Amino acid sequence: MVIGLDIDGAINRHPQFFAFMSQTLMQAGYEVVVITFREDRASATDDLAAWGIRYGQLVTWSFQADGGEDMYAGKDRRCHTLRVDILFDDDPLVLCRLPPAILGMMPVDHQIHDWAGLGDGRDGPDKRCSSRTDCQ
Ligand SMILES: [Mg+2]
Repeated sequence: MVIGLDIDGAINRHPQFFAFMSQTLMQAGYEVVVITFREDRASATDDLAAWGIRYGQLVTWSFQADGGEDMYAGKDRRCHTLRVDILFDDDPLVLCRLPPAILGMMPVDHQIHDWAGLGDGRDGPDKRCSSRTDCQ
């Protein structure tokens, strides 16, 4: 099984959890790949090392090297090429483009709740989170 991890908004939301998860998965024989929109490969490798993230492959974004390909389509294509089974990513625009065979897992915080209209009560009390205090 291949597990894909996004950095910004996913790994960096809880590096300790993702370090434990990546180390455990790799130790158990699973493949872990990091797929990020970051263009700065050095900052990505430095951060992953500092957080203790274990992975087999790091894929960074390059608009020029990728021929101007749409970022979201590029991430989808890379997941397909790398045979990712599960992708952890904070961006719903990434996850909604994944083919059904790839399970998308999204870290959700209050920023996402607000984006979806669930976090501030503006959609009424019938929503699961009608205020930030309800979710804490
Ligand atoms: Mg992200």
